[in-house]
Amino acid sequence: MRCQLCKKKAVISSPKLCKEHFIKYYEKKFKERLEKLKIRGKRILIAVSGGKDSSVLAYLLHKYKKEFQLDLMLFYIDLGIKEYSKKGLKAVKILSELINEPLQIYDLKALHGYSIDDFHYKPCSYCGVIKRYIINKFAFENGFDYIAIGHNLDDELFFIMNNLFNQDLHQLSRIGMKTETIKEYKLIGRIKPLYYFTEKENMLYAVLKKIPFDNTECPHAKNSTQLQFKQNFNFSREKKLSLVKAFNKIKKYLPKEEIKLNLCEKCGYATTSKICKFCRIDEMMRKVEK
Ligand code: SF4
Ligand code: ZN
Ligand code: ZN
Repeated sequence: MRCQLCKKKAVISSPKLCKEHFIKYYEKKFKERLEKLKIRGKRILIAVSGGKDSSVLAYLLHKYKKEFQLDLMLFYIDLGIKEYSKKGLKAVKILSELINEPLQIYDLKALHGYSIDDFHYKPCSYCGVIKRYIINKFAFENGFDYIAIGHNLDDELFFIMNNLFNQDLHQLSRIGMKTETIKEYKLIGRIKPLYYFTEKENMLYAVLKKIPFDNTECPHAKNSTQLQFKQNFNFSREKKLSLVKAFNKIKKYLPKEEIKLNLCEKCGYATTSKICKFCRIDEMMRKVEK
């Protein structure tokens, strides 16, 4: 297999590119997406896990920091998931030193008295709520404009298909590369600069650029719906791209369901009920731990 541009040995089949042309293509696309996201001069909190996607994201945001006048900080939540969390933490520490960006570590067990391993039933559904809540709160309290997440094309395709299977049109209307901040509800906007890159492309870029990351899979992931989805739907990169782009076009025709937001009576952050999901989980776990 040869590079479509220079005929050297290709390192990836779609697009067919050699090492040098792949890195150029990847960085050019990343920069184009930063332009589209309109984040020049913004304070950005990067959610890092130690995995390839978020490590590549932090590395590249740092690379273009000056050009886009960004103010960056890495944010790691120690979820207390056996070896996975220890290895992830080690990787983010190395990364933060390498790129010389500050790293904030949030220790769930130390601050709340429980870890994700203490949830014995469907830990992923609790983990998702907890991670979103904690990072949003930290970003809001510390004056960040956006939270950057390493969400890739495969993650987005799963999100779309899962909501289609669940017939959840409201969630489906929330797809996209960017959400805006809603100050009155203390909701910080999210950006996903790796949105159109596949997992495979991110992995290749991380390996070629020797970016520190840890490839350990979370032990809870094996039961997750996302993994089952990946095993059942093995689309090519082109098909994944077409599907995600098609849904982004369809999005504007989806019914706009007005969701009424309130501020949680306990913590003051956004919720659709009286008490937010995080506070309910937190209370339940603190009782169990007593
Ligand atoms: Fe959390 Fe589940 Fe992801 Fe593990 S696989 S980090 S438990 S959401
Ligand atoms: Zn080439
Ligand atoms: Zn709350």
